[in-house]
Amino acid sequence: MQNYDVDILVSGGGVAGLTAAAVFGAAGFSVLCVDPTPPVTDRDAEGSDLRTTAFLQPAQALLEKAGLWQRVQADAAPLQIMRIVDAGGAQPEPRVVKDFNATDLSDLPFGWNLSNWLLRREFMARLNDLPNVEFRPGTGTKSVFTRDAMARVGLSDGSSVTCRLVIAADGRNSPVRNAMGIKVKTTRYGQKALAFAVTHPIPHENVSTEIHRSGGPFTLVPLPDYQGMPSSAVVWMERGPEAMRLASLAEDDFEAAMTERSCSLFGPLKLASRRSVWPIISQVADRMQGERVALVAEAAHVVPPIGAQGLNMSLGDMRVLLELAEAAPERLGDARMLDTYNRRRHAEVRARVAGIDLLNRASMLQSRPLRDLRAVGLNAIYSLAPVRKTMMQMGLGARG
Ligand SMILES: Cc1cc2nc3c(=O)[nH]c(=O)nc-3n(C[C@H](O)[C@H](O)[C@H](O)COP(=O)(O)OP(=O)(O)OC[C@H]3O[C@@H](n4cnc5c(N)ncnc54)[C@H](O)[C@@H]3O)c2cc1C
Repeated sequence: MQNYDVDILVSGGGVAGLTAAAVFGAAGFSVLCVDPTPPVTDRDAEGSDLRTTAFLQPAQALLEKAGLWQRVQADAAPLQIMRIVDAGGAQPEPRVVKDFNATDLSDLPFGWNLSNWLLRREFMARLNDLPNVEFRPGTGTKSVFTRDAMARVGLSDGSSVTCRLVIAADGRNSPVRNAMGIKVKTTRYGQKALAFAVTHPIPHENVSTEIHRSGGPFTLVPLPDYQGMPSSAVVWMERGPEAMRLASLAEDDFEAAMTERSCSLFGPLKLASRRSVWPIISQVADRMQGERVALVAEAAHVVPPIGAQGLNMSLGDMRVLLELAEAAPERLGDARMLDTYNRRRHAEVRARVAGIDLLNRASMLQSRPLRDLRAVGLNAIYSLAPVRKTMMQMGLGARG
């Protein structure tokens, strides 16, 4: 049991919380980060996070400034082309294929894909190098008491923390958000995502492929080779019962099912990890700030995994918070700073959540005529070069 006095308490040590701790620690603020669940940092260990994060272009500068990019760049798979495939016809085969190429925007790839378990390992190592940052896995936030001038946070081990700013990065059921009485609007789709890694005989050539049929997209995102074979991370979204059925299939049957769902674009797919299942919702907090509290990442917004928006939006939150904190460090966590944070982030977050909600509903379509309409829509968007380019820029977060 200890009493801490720090600039910032980060509640939550998921990928977003660890990033926030490094971002503000590297900027010179004293930071304590807590999480009741110690991160699993070994790919094949029970409970490891088998999702990957496609960090889009704007993420790189922030991660570099925080000293995080340097630790992971050797393991990052570049994403040069985003391929959208509509396979919504009678047979599971591609009928519209459109490539969005990063060269249309700049010399850089759209982004880089990294495994979440590896991010946790490397981001934790970075926190160890920062003398002004302490990470305490195994300890959670228990109570939050705020005044105009400071916040006092009680921890699960009986310790108490006095700080100027609480960054709530404690996930979609955020205890800090609940303690502040901030409400959320939640949309449920009755859908789940299976996340796992595969190997395949046909190389991905740095193309991320999103295949739409019904039930949700089937997305393959490039990974570095695994055991000498080309490898991809897969996110397969389906209605809940179908996702659970797939998750419990014998390995051979599952491999046959996913190869068919992938339209065999990469040849026969082989499982290269466990299968993990994630519930899919959209959620937005009514506001992203409270007295001495900033909500970031899934504590503030949750989206279905389409277009790699989730964590990239969270980095957008941190970019704005950091900019405000560095512009006036003496006002860290005061009402003006947090009002500005909310004003600059909340409208954009709500617009993005609404956009992804629409894309997800289009991808879930069961009825053939509507699926046909979706294919027509994809063709139309693609054929207009300025629309195509704007969509790509918006996807990267370069345009609101
Ligand atoms: C299948 C799938 C694929 C995805 N792919 C991408 C992608 O390619 N690109 C992208 O940008 N995003 C992607 N996302 C979204 C991204 O994974 C999430 O945005 C991100 O992992 C959420 O991070 P988080 O840290 O906010 O939440 P979490 O990972 O849920 O972390 C919250 C943490 O808070 C902790 N916590 C809980 N209670 C307390 C407490 N009392 N005190 C302190 N801590 C507490 C929890 O233990 C947890 O570690 C994907 C999501 C899914 C489901």
